[in-house]
Amino acid sequence: MRIPELNNGDLLPLAESFYTIQGEGYNTGKAAFFIRLGGCDVGCSWCDAKETWNPALYPPTPIENIVNEAVKYKAKSIVITGGEPLTYPLDKLCKLLKKERMQIFLETSGSYPLSGIFDWICLSPKKRKPPVGDIHQIASELKVIIEKEEDLIWAEENRAKAAKSTLLYLQPEWSRRAEMVPLIVEYVKNNPAWSISLQTHKYMNIP
Ligand code: SF4
Repeated sequence: MRIPELNNGDLLPLAESFYTIQGEGYNTGKAAFFIRLGGCDVGCSWCDAKETWNPALYPPTPIENIVNEAVKYKAKSIVITGGEPLTYPLDKLCKLLKKERMQIFLETSGSYPLSGIFDWICLSPKKRKPPVGDIHQIASELKVIIEKEEDLIWAEENRAKAAKSTLLYLQPEWSRRAEMVPLIVEYVKNNPAWSISLQTHKYMNIP
C-alpha cells in the first residue's frame, strides 16, 4: 500500500468526476462517467492534467460516494483516469462498480502495478516512467502520444511488447497537432496495423 491514509483503497484522492463523452481511443464517442484521481509522478511536459499531479490537493474520498454519483447517469460506462490512477489500489473501487454492473475502462501509463478489474485497459506508455509488469500483454489498446518524430520509435518499442490482439493507436500531442498529424497520417498509411486517435473532446469543447 503506497499511501496509508487511503486505507488500502477505501478512500481515493478524487480530483473530479463528471459525465461526458469519451474523446479518444477505441471508445471514442461513447458516453461515460469519468473518475479522475489526483496524483501522478510521471511528469510529461505536455500533460493536459497538470493540476492533478499533487494528490495532497484532493480530499481522500470514500469510494462509496464516488460510486453513488456514478450510478446517477444513464450510461453504464466508467472511465478511471488521472493523474495516474494505478498509483492507488483500485480493487475495492472496481468491485463496487462491478456490483452496479458498470463497464470499467482504465486510462493508464502503466507506471505502477495493475490493480482492479477492467473491461478495457488503455495503456499510454510514457518514456519518462515506462510501464511495469506485463501490462503490455493485458492492454486492450496501446495509445502512444506523438509529440515528435522520434516518438514513433517509442511506439514501435511498445508495440513489440504488446499482445497480437492489442489495438494500436497513434495520437498527436494536442499542442503539436498541426505538425504531427501529417506525419502520423503518412506513418499509418505505411504501417496500417496502427490507427489514428484524435482528442475529439477538445474539438467538441467538452471535458
Ligand atoms: S502520465 Fe498522464 S497524468 Fe501523468 S504527467 Fe503524463 S500525461 Fe499527465
